[in-house]
Amino acid sequence: MAMIRAVFIDKDGTLIPDIPYNVDPTLITLAPNAGETLRHLKQAGYALIVISNQSGIARGLFAESALIAVEHRLNALLQRFGIALDGFYYCPHLPDAPIAAYRVECACRKPKSGLLEQAARDLDIDLHQSWMIGDIAADCEAGNRVGCQTILIEKPYDPQREFTPLSQPDFLIDGWDQVSQIILKQETIR
Ligand SMILES: [Mg+2]
Ligand SMILES: [Zn+2]
Repeated sequence: MAMIRAVFIDKDGTLIPDIPYNVDPTLITLAPNAGETLRHLKQAGYALIVISNQSGIARGLFAESALIAVEHRLNALLQRFGIALDGFYYCPHLPDAPIAAYRVECACRKPKSGLLEQAARDLDIDLHQSWMIGDIAADCEAGNRVGCQTILIEKPYDPQREFTPLSQPDFLIDGWDQVSQIILKQETIR
């Protein structure tokens, strides 16, 4: 079976405006231009996969089961663009968490790359043909660790910002409107 390509997407602050620790579906909206862009990428053959740190679980702020409604809400919003997520992966852990069951030095909390590796195993994804899109350096580091190309959507955009060699994004932009052009252009170069 041929491997597939994926776009891994951070949730809070990237796919949706960041409301810290929110799991109320009625407060969830897509970021400007995210829906249209993801439709283009899906049409180009990319699987769409959310990769999210959800330490609110380990902090006791909401139950892990609350994320079911969050995932449903995201798919309802994306349905308006004729698409759905191919995967929804999250890390519920935190090393110094108040909830003992989630107090783990895990391999899946970004900037670690465990969630991307798990998705790659589950869906037979070629990580070197895939992308990670996020809003902080930890997202890019997780993608860089496994050979994805990385895009940082930073608001406000700061071209002087410094990164470590491992967290350096391949592209630093200020909105979703630039994403499909970057990814589809790279594709024609290859
Ligand atoms: Mg984020
Ligand atoms: Zn984890």
